[in-house]
Amino acid sequence: MYSNPSYQDNGRLCLLCEEAITNPICFACIRKGIINWLKENNPDLINSFDDISKSLEDYTDMGEKTTCILCRRKMQICSHCYTKEIFEWLKKEKPSLVEEFLDMFNFELKTLYGYLVR
Ligand SMILES: [Zn+2]
Ligand SMILES: [Zn+2]
Repeated sequence: MYSNPSYQDNGRLCLLCEEAITNPICFACIRKGIINWLKENNPDLINSFDDISKSLEDYTDMGEKTTCILCRRKMQICSHCYTKEIFEWLKKEKPSLVEEFLDMFNFELKTLYGYLVR
């Protein structure tokens, strides 16, 4: 697994999935984007989202290896893992929104940028 030297030197592995963090966006930034999305689509979910947010934010204290490209905050969980946790939450909370969520965030966070810059 660590035979590739550049992979080893990098050292920026996500604590959850152990993949290299390529497009570091911290949870605080993702959270902001999701809240903007919820405000427009399902404001009644914001309180419940706040609860899951708190549990996810605990991870930010676990390491200081990668810097968020948007706010320069230190992070060590990749955006995909955060998005995945939020996806699992949404699936329980509001299954009817799941498809739209996937369209919006697509695990690539392309559309999320639109919500981040507001
Ligand atoms: Zn990850
Ligand atoms: Zn950030």
